[in-house]
This record gives sequence, structure tokens and C-alpha cells, in this order.
Amino acid sequence: MSDKKFDYWFGVPRKEIKWYPKIDPAACIGCGLCAVICGRGVYSYDLVTKKPIVAQPYHCLVGCQTCANLCPVGAIEFPPPEVAREAARKYKIFIKVKEILKEKFAEQLIETAKEYGKEMASDRKG
Ligand code: SF4
Ligand code: SF4
Repeated sequence: MSDKKFDYWFGVPRKEIKWYPKIDPAACIGCGLCAVICGRGVYSYDLVTKKPIVAQPYHCLVGCQTCANLCPVGAIEFPPPEVAREAARKYKIFIKVKEILKEKFAEQLIETAKEYGKEMASDRKG
């Protein structure tokens, strides 16, 4: 999968941030769970060797460790979480997060305010 939407993280070229899984082939039992659950196509799976391959490391979501958490034998490693936190600080993503929050929840806030307004009006009548 070569999905361009994963090439950037909050506008930062994803390759600037060294966050991706590494598999210990000696520990891996080839169950394939990591390759199946990752929704970003980071893994492919070799049906001959029966081992996953980190095919698109930079499609991994910065800070995500779901596959490592689920691997039954702990064969997947990530850098320390501080690497992701440091990237968030370095690239000032919280400025963008604030903007996204407004866009994402503005409608919800307006609806809540409308409902609140209706309740107040009916309280005054009653
Ligand atoms: S989940 Fe773990 S054991 Fe299963 S294929 Fe992936 S790395 Fe190997
Ligand atoms: S950490 Fe998340 S995004 Fe990254 S490879 Fe694992 S499941 Fe996919």
C-alpha cells in the first residue's frame, strides 16, 4: 500500500520522525496478527517464511504501539515514547491540534448551545 495520506504528520514529512516498529525475527512466531491489525499498511507478510515484513515503516502513526501491545510474544519493539513526545514538541503540533479541535467540535458546541438555549426557554415558560 503506498498511501500518500500517511506521508505527513501534522504537515511534517513523516520521514523526519524515526518512529516505526522493529521485529525480532527470532522471537516472532509468525502469527500474522500485526500484519492484519495495522490499518496503515505498515506490514506485509511473507507466506513462504511465515514472517511479517516492515514494508512501509513511515506509514506507522507516530506514537502508536498497538501491534507491539498485541503481539503474543513481545517480538515488536518501538523507540521510547519520549521520541514521539519530543517530535510533538519540536514540530509544535499543538498549534495545529488547537485549530483542528475548533473545526472538529465547533458544530457540536453550537448544537449543545442551541439545546441549552431551548432548555432555558422552556424553564422560563414553566
Ligand atoms: S504479532 Fe508478533 S508474533 Fe505475530 S507475526 Fe507479528 S511480530 Fe510475529
Ligand atoms: S504501531 Fe500502529 S500504526 Fe504502527 S505499525 Fe503498529 S498498528 Fe500500525
